Amino acid sequence: MSEGFTFEEMAQIHKDNHQNKVELMGTYGGDITHALSAWTSTTRDLTEDKLKRVPKLLKFLAENEHETPFEKSSLHFLMTTDIATHIHIIKHRIGVSVNGESARYKELRDDKFYVPQDWPEDEVLLYVQHMEQSLRLYHAAVERLIAKGFERNRAKESARFYLPYGNQLQADVMFNWRSFYHFLTLRYSTHAQAEIRNLARTMLELVDQTGKFELTLQAFGLKDENGLCAPFK
Ligand SMILES: Cc1cc2nc3c(=O)[nH]c(=O)nc-3n(C[C@H](O)[C@H](O)[C@H](O)COP(=O)(O)OP(=O)(O)OC[C@H]3O[C@@H](n4cnc5c(N)ncnc54)[C@H](O)[C@@H]3O)c2cc1C
Repeated sequence: MSEGFTFEEMAQIHKDNHQNKVELMGTYGGDITHALSAWTSTTRDLTEDKLKRVPKLLKFLAENEHETPFEKSSLHFLMTTDIATHIHIIKHRIGVSVNGESARYKELRDDKFYVPQDWPEDEVLLYVQHMEQSLRLYHAAVERLIAKGFERNRAKESARFYLPYGNQLQADVMFNWRSFYHFLTLRYSTHAQAEIRNLARTMLELVDQTGKFELTLQAFGLKDENGLCAPFK
């Protein structure tokens, strides 16, 4: 028991307070942008008749891997994730722009860390102790190294070696639709680690909620009358 909470309640509080997070900061484009990009090859005039043909066109493009029109939209996310998930994100090189929080240019003072959401209570409590101890050691090492004559920059950038994978970093990540879909095929997948899979699912939900990519989601088989698809197998 701690502060009047049971063992189970404390573990649940830690899980709730230490999740990975993602928000959709903005988008550019959508279904019509993709269709008009493809129709540039003939004419971009958008008649009533052509508007009706957008679902079929997008499906044709997706099924035939004519994917450059889908590069004309942007999806801009801000995420806070554990370091393992952060590494998964930065593995994606094409059509993805990432800026991350630096532990070189500043001391990480927020003490953000992730707690695995599926762990049993006893493991969560042990792990939280470990994370808190690691963060204390990190901050103390910065000061100790400075006291020992290190430049502040070197003290900060090297003290981070005290921090485990569970530590969270913020990243500003932008995809186009094509690179986002490729990301989903690999990370919204039963083969992907649970953390990045859950993040990818939330990203997909956020894009869906904008309503701007409805026909594109359908064209790529990510959505049907039952809602968003299950993870790729
Ligand atoms: C389940 C899973 C397990 C993984 N395990 C590991 C692991 O153990 N170790 C590890 O290091 N990584 C691992 N990865 C990461 C993986 O190897 C890729 O780095 C990551 O998934 C990015 O995929 P990508 O290269 O297709 O994406 P992007 O980098 O975004 O590239 C998109 C596409 O562009 C093309 N492309 C990109 N670069 C080149 C190039 N240089 N030459 C030719 N074509 C190119 C390819 O068609 C590629 O699919 C894993 C990924 C997954 C999903």
